[in-house]
Amino acid sequence: MSIEEKGTISIHTENIFPIIKKFLYSDNEIFLRELVSNAVDAVQKIKRLAALGQYSGELGNPLVEVAVDKDAKTITISDNGLGMTADEIKKYINQVAFSGASEFVEKFKDAKDANEIIGKFGLGFYSAFMVADLVEIQTLSYQDGAEPARWVCDGSTSFEITDGNKTTRGTDIILHINAESEEFLENHKLEEILDKYGKFLPVPIKFGTKTEQEPDGEDEEGKPKTKSVEVDNIINTTNPIWTKAPADLSDEDYLSFYKQLYPFSEDPLFWIHLNVDYPFNLTGVLYFPKLKNDYEFQRNKIKLFSRQVFITDEVKDIVPEFLMLLHGVIDSPDIPLNVSRSFLQADSNVKKINSYITKKVADKLQELFNKDRKSYEEKWGDIGLFVKYGMVSEEKFYDKAKDFALLTNTKEEHYTLDEYRDKIKDIQTDKNGQLVYIYANDPAKQDSFIQSANKKDYDVLLMNSPIDNHFVSQLEQKLEKTSLKRVDSSVASQLIDKDENHESVLSEDQSKQVKEIFEKAITRPGYNVEIVGLNPEELPVTVTMDEFMRRMKDMAAMGGGMGFYGNMPDSYKVAINGNHKLIGKILASDKSEDQALLAKQAVDLALLAQGMLTGAELTEFVSRSVALI
Ligand code: ADP
Ligand code: MG
Repeated sequence: MSIEEKGTISIHTENIFPIIKKFLYSDNEIFLRELVSNAVDAVQKIKRLAALGQYSGELGNPLVEVAVDKDAKTITISDNGLGMTADEIKKYINQVAFSGASEFVEKFKDAKDANEIIGKFGLGFYSAFMVADLVEIQTLSYQDGAEPARWVCDGSTSFEITDGNKTTRGTDIILHINAESEEFLENHKLEEILDKYGKFLPVPIKFGTKTEQEPDGEDEEGKPKTKSVEVDNIINTTNPIWTKAPADLSDEDYLSFYKQLYPFSEDPLFWIHLNVDYPFNLTGVLYFPKLKNDYEFQRNKIKLFSRQVFITDEVKDIVPEFLMLLHGVIDSPDIPLNVSRSFLQADSNVKKINSYITKKVADKLQELFNKDRKSYEEKWGDIGLFVKYGMVSEEKFYDKAKDFALLTNTKEEHYTLDEYRDKIKDIQTDKNGQLVYIYANDPAKQDSFIQSANKKDYDVLLMNSPIDNHFVSQLEQKLEKTSLKRVDSSVASQLIDKDENHESVLSEDQSKQVKEIFEKAITRPGYNVEIVGLNPEELPVTVTMDEFMRRMKDMAAMGGGMGFYGNMPDSYKVAINGNHKLIGKILASDKSEDQALLAKQAVDLALLAQGMLTGAELTEFVSRSVALI
């Protein structure tokens, strides 16, 4: 029997290929992903048929080969899979599976992403026309008595099916590369694309050959000899670790896979092996990387696969936002990879995957915490950021993480939320029964405040990571009868209102006089002087910014819609400790220049202690101090 047929591809339009070419141009390298995955599918199908007893012929070594002929300007993708009969070509290749080309054209005239089109309309094979002006199929089906078949198409809607020349089972797809796509005839270009999409495909992918040394008997002295041999250059690992069972893997396996994915990275802190098959299918390994101190976040490090074919490293929407800093791979045939973002967000599988990953991560952290608290604390500097980010952004994660989240104080001690409350509740409860957590966000700058607080036996928490601003507000909302105050938001004895303030020893007149002296000494706008009666041991002058005011300004600075506060000039409180002996000294002085000088010096010292004295003011302070000594 001989095959001879001409016909028209049934897509009801003449101009489908120009459209494919035009819209898909930016992504045209994916033709190789599509054709190689088809070849891999064909090989896996024949293996399955053999396993089911529906094919009893020789299987051979499963192989997909990509070959370039620079002179002929062709790329050939060959497989020893199940092949196609002429009828199957008509069915699977000619009848492009979509309802109407007019719908297609209408819908995708604004398409940005080739994936959208290819996936939605099952155009995988036709992506060949992005780079080829003639595509040829030579194929021989596994079926008994099948004849080799050949299909050719020049990118118009007419095709031709004739007898083929293939003598072994499988399919060759021959692409006659068009003039604009000749870059794909370069070996390095193909290697790069194969490496990107095909590194972990389940069937060996051969691209060219390489030389290897092989044992070759012994020389006269009995030493082993080797000879050079040409062997297939296989570009992929067919059984990457995420396809294996965790029980069959050692730490070494996980670490070396990490190195393979990210050759220049430090070892990760730990990892989570994902494995679900109901209600959706998902496997993968997620790694917690060591974060650099400069918090140079590296997003988009998670690679998304679909049955071992690389799809993208933009996993937004599939992985919860706060876990975007993780590294690793996720493989799921159930994620609708080829559709648009908005569809992804609404997809119920994606939502389930998202909460599954969140839960797995929480469980793993809880396990690490329970198993070895000490090593967990050592890692907290790195994982704390994920955990806090998660607690702030996902209600469900907060509920789990509240048991293993740690608070760290300025003495580098770590406490869980419950432990910390118990630790401070006796000393840091105000007169209304409200707990007050005190924190520093810049311990070096706030050192004098921290020391004053410590003198009163107050504990000071460290909140100096980029997320802590939000974490502080989150804690305040979540913890009962608790407020958080930055250590420099007022003088130590007023951080927690306990109704036990010292009376100022100054008379009303004296207070007024001291206030005037200091108001004159301070030339900066927005500094309001207040005389307070503190312990004589406390500093004579303290400059603070009110907690509420500061937070509003911080939020405005982060674009939190607090425009009103953002526009307010900075305003500070200058607390003068009326009970300090320096104030007595100022009052005792009879020359007003001396009073002004002492006041000025005391204010500058307070500013200096907080790193707020710089530039000309600092220079002036230094020369004034020199003159004084
Ligand atoms: P999909 O892979 O999503 O089905 P494609 O357009 O990539 O869509 O392929 C269409 C069909 O053509 C495949 O489902 C398969 O039946 C057939 N086909 C493509 N390439 C091969 C191949 N190398 N061997 C056997 N069949 C193939
Ligand atoms: Mg396909």
